Amino acid sequence: MQGYLKCLDCGSEYPIQQDIITCPKCGGLLEIIVEPKKDFSFSKLKGKGVWRYRELIAGEYKHIVSLNEGNTPLIASSTNKNLYFKFEGANPTGSFKDRGMTVAISSAKSLNYKVVVAASTGNTAASAAAYASRAGLRSYIVLPKGKVALGKLAQSILYGTTILEVDGSFDVAMNSVMKLYRELKIVYPLNSFNPWRLEGQKTIAFEIVEDIGVPDNVIVPVGNAGNIYAIWKGFVELMNIGVTDKVPRMIGIQAEGAAPIAKALEKGLDKPEFIDSPETVASAIRIGKPVNWKKAIKAIKSSNGFATYVSDSEILEAQKELARREGIGAEPASAASYAGYLKLVNSGKIDKSEKTVLILTGHALKDPDAMIKAESRRILVNPEHINEIILSDLK
Ligand SMILES: *Cc1c(COP(=O)(O)O)cnc(C)c1O
Ligand SMILES: [Zn+2]
Repeated sequence: MQGYLKCLDCGSEYPIQQDIITCPKCGGLLEIIVEPKKDFSFSKLKGKGVWRYRELIAGEYKHIVSLNEGNTPLIASSTNKNLYFKFEGANPTGSFKDRGMTVAISSAKSLNYKVVVAASTGNTAASAAAYASRAGLRSYIVLPKGKVALGKLAQSILYGTTILEVDGSFDVAMNSVMKLYRELKIVYPLNSFNPWRLEGQKTIAFEIVEDIGVPDNVIVPVGNAGNIYAIWKGFVELMNIGVTDKVPRMIGIQAEGAAPIAKALEKGLDKPEFIDSPETVASAIRIGKPVNWKKAIKAIKSSNGFATYVSDSEILEAQKELARREGIGAEPASAASYAGYLKLVNSGKIDKSEKTVLILTGHALKDPDAMIKAESRRILVNPEHINEIILSDLK
């Protein structure tokens, strides 16, 4: 596929070349601009998941390292026929990160890298560890010590990566990876400043369009802010090749204690004021300095979208409601999109009749400590008397 790379900071352009990850001139973020493909049709595609869309994914892949990621269920709400949940928790390691990781690890493998590295709040770590193991690559994961949800940490341990813990927030871990990448060119970075990862994540848009066409709104929890851009990019590219005729409003949801992008947009600022010690129960979006903020703002503004934030209690309440009303177990960061939806419907910014897709980014099992905060009925019983409890409930 033809196209070019364009730096969001200095505007330099480069031919599409997979070993370019950040701008060689200024170190800025790169966008992968693909040339619209002619004669594309979904009906000609074969297979399922991310690589079904191979002809729309930039780059050349001598080796594809896949765990059959993608092809996640789009679940209609049981109470509102215009509301859908894209359940990314159904990916092989339980989050949408697998869509980006299959492309990034396939790139690393195709380019002959031997070592991969990623900073993570947890899900990138779990995914990177799994795909690196599958590819036979050595991996190093930089985590904020004591701040990673148990399920994610346990996955990283199981998949056998080297875990490097730093004192400080995710942003400290991220800085260390960017510095490492600048100094040690033999390591391949798996964070979302790597635009090749976003090529995989854009397939979320392709799957939504194949399932229900283009919705009115897509609501995405925003941390480092790569995913909302990636999904928008997917919709834009489908429009550019003439498969669709519009792009949905991209709506970003952040957690109140980690909302630099939502707060900047509300105040009409062009650049977020970063936060030194972000705090929220939603650890996957506990990020004060989103590396992809420019890309996210571009996606939100050019789709006529917006961003807002929700409190931790709204997030946990939404997580419970998703589980108890819809039967869907999502981790707190994912429930932020539902909390945001409820809030926006309440305030009239979204109408229930608009076709809206919520991206549920990760599985509830990722964060057992959050799950058990939801109170439930637990009764110590004499096994002989269970019938009495049920019969008295039914009275
Ligand atoms: C990574 C992640 C996010 C945030 O995605 P960004 O691309 O960093 O904005 C949200 N939810 C979950 C579960 C994640 O793993
Ligand atoms: Zn540049």
